[in-house]
Amino acid sequence: MHCLHFVGHGTATPAGPEEVAGRGVPAKATSMTELDYPVLPPAQTGLRGLCPRCGKGHIFKGFLTIAPRCEVCGLDFSFADPADGPAFFVMSIVSFPVVAFAGWLEIAHEPPIWVHLVTSLPMLLGGCLALLRPLKGWIVSSQYVHKAEEGRLAEPAAQPAPEPNP
Ligand SMILES: [Zn+2]
Repeated sequence: MHCLHFVGHGTATPAGPEEVAGRGVPAKATSMTELDYPVLPPAQTGLRGLCPRCGKGHIFKGFLTIAPRCEVCGLDFSFADPADGPAFFVMSIVSFPVVAFAGWLEIAHEPPIWVHLVTSLPMLLGGCLALLRPLKGWIVSSQYVHKAEEGRLAEPAAQPAPEPNP
């Protein structure tokens, strides 16, 4: 006959009181400066390559290089990373009229191929170069305005949603 013996290991520790720490404000250094500036339309600032916040500084350091920050108001431009988006848009936008022109030229005048090389090709390159910078600036400004408006609309007490990693 078996005897169930109890092991007297009473290790049940009483649940201590949960330490309720004073819930402080999350130490997120939100700059209030974005609220001090009126929202400028991106078409007004970005297309001219101007800072989306103050409208005076410049976004670009070189032809297409984005400066680290605005030299007038100090806005950090690190949020702006349009990558290859503008190039794709510009190619799509520019290629339509150029292809249309090349087609018209071919049908109307039936020129030798070198005529295309000195008309359509420079139009394509020139159009891209002329549009790339304003379009990039416009996208950067749109990103800034979008971000600023989100900050405006966000409730301070709302739980912070984690940034989705791309
Ligand atoms: Zn600025």
